[in-house]
Amino acid sequence: MSFGFRIGAATDVGVKRTLNQDSYGLSERLAVVADGMGGHRGGEVASAIAVNEVLDRFVEPTMQALVSGVEEANRLILDHGAANPELRGMGTTVVALAWVALEDGVGLGVINIGDSRMYRLQGKVLEQLTEDHSLVEALVREGRITAEEAELHPQRNIVTRALGVSDVIEIDDFYFTPTVGDRYLLCSDGLFNEVGAQQIATMLATEPDPQAAADQLIAQANIGGGRDNITTVIVDIVNEDDAAMAAVPLALAAPLPNTNVDTGSGDDGAAQVEVAIAGADDVAGMDTPQNTKRNRWSWRR
Ligand code: MG
Repeated sequence: MSFGFRIGAATDVGVKRTLNQDSYGLSERLAVVADGMGGHRGGEVASAIAVNEVLDRFVEPTMQALVSGVEEANRLILDHGAANPELRGMGTTVVALAWVALEDGVGLGVINIGDSRMYRLQGKVLEQLTEDHSLVEALVREGRITAEEAELHPQRNIVTRALGVSDVIEIDDFYFTPTVGDRYLLCSDGLFNEVGAQQIATMLATEPDPQAAADQLIAQANIGGGRDNITTVIVDIVNEDDAAMAAVPLALAAPLPNTNVDTGSGDDGAAQVEVAIAGADDVAGMDTPQNTKRNRWSWRR
């Protein structure tokens, strides 16, 4: 089976910050989101390096190309930080989804470091496919706090893995065969810290246009508080002939003006969609080096 991407993407500074340190990048077969951190303009520089390196290194559509893009970005961020005192200590998360050639056909490849996320909406189930590399995720895993407590934890923005910290990086990477009709969401924590999984699932399940859905999720995050930069990239898996990409620049896309969105907080159509937390099963057909727990939410009318 071959397939293509139909992509919508948006980024926004939020309502509390003055700089947008998130970056995203798109090509016909690749979507990347990075959430930079560091003083002055360090976060912006780090996230832009990550996005650009992952895009640039993805010449052959392979898992190795994805991984080498991340490794090269890490080296560049460390080098720039060492050479520029004002950029010292900058870092970034990175999550990417790509069309990759596999031994037995084609599939989707994923790489992840940090606490940006990738979700999949398949049928009526929303599932987080990446694992957060964050302090609160570790505390939840160790049973020291609950998932509910993690959502409100004061240190929920502390990441345990990022680019720009060390020469040695541990990259989560996995691949699998997708199904036409699946929808993927890559996002920075500015989305899911403001918008609950149920609301995310409802938007993804009810807004067919990926660009409109990406814009509306950002608007919801701003309504939710907008305390951080927000980036949303939605990738619909379509038949190859239907592939199309939103007309957006590559890295460091300009923030979009907030769109007016009915968030469904009242008794309107969106509120009729129900999302329930389901058990964490393994994802069928997924080849992954680590057997992570995944959060799943299913919705139904
Ligand atoms: Mg963030």
